[in-house]
Amino acid sequence: MPNNITSEIIEIDSGKTGPALAIFAGVHGNELAGVYALQKLLPTLKLTRGKLYIAFANPPAIRAKVRMVKQNLNRCFVANNKGTSYEDRRARELMAILDKCDALLDLHMFYDDDGLPFVICEDNAVEVAHTFDVGIISTNWAKAEPGASDGYMFSQGKIGLCVECGPISKSKEYTDFAVKTIYQFLQYFDMSLKKVSLSKVPKRFVVANKSVYKSSANFTLKAGYKNFDRLKPGEVIAQDGGKKYLSQEGECIIFPHYKARVGEEAYIIGIETIASPKLKG
Ligand SMILES: [Zn+2]
Repeated sequence: MPNNITSEIIEIDSGKTGPALAIFAGVHGNELAGVYALQKLLPTLKLTRGKLYIAFANPPAIRAKVRMVKQNLNRCFVANNKGTSYEDRRARELMAILDKCDALLDLHMFYDDDGLPFVICEDNAVEVAHTFDVGIISTNWAKAEPGASDGYMFSQGKIGLCVECGPISKSKEYTDFAVKTIYQFLQYFDMSLKKVSLSKVPKRFVVANKSVYKSSANFTLKAGYKNFDRLKPGEVIAQDGGKKYLSQEGECIIFPHYKARVGEEAYIIGIETIASPKLKG
């Protein structure tokens, strides 16, 4: 936990009517750019309207710099969660906050040491996603990987954004990116006194289509894939004995997981769309 932050959930009320927003960091306790970013900007943050809830989402995991205590918190955000693990209980506390909010920004990081930031959201949040300095907007995750915080917001008809702020190994280097992302999010809702430039970075659009699981000990994923690599039609992505997993036109690979164990997700197939998914309004 950052030394100068004693509270795990912070409520900032401007005293003026406006949107209610939530910002989460440390849902996975080893993904620290968002935690460092909040530590950096909180002392001077001023809202012009509305309310902001800031949550250091998984404090024991953040303190230990580990992904989780008992289970993946970002699979616990389900409306009828009755689980008994630490993360289940924490998810219920955090969902009670989300129920008071119009939109969520959840700051994460990933394992690929060379990857660049991207954003995950559903179609209703694509317009907000455009304000971030990311090269990829990826949608349809609520179906592909249920139980995430952004998917929970979508299930409630609200805006949920998961920004993957860079490689876990570069948490310090990507702290300023996370700071800017937070200000861009606040600025979209016209709530921040401090102004930043909204993004001009061109975007690729990738729809998460299906998860592929490591089916047996013989399952081998082709070496060298990086997150969001484009696949050639007919490319052999993986093999299991005689079975070949072939790619089709317009597909790319997401989260290639070379260390997956049998029964775990080995990769996700994304479909790249040429036009931007439809914007609201
Ligand atoms: Zn994460």
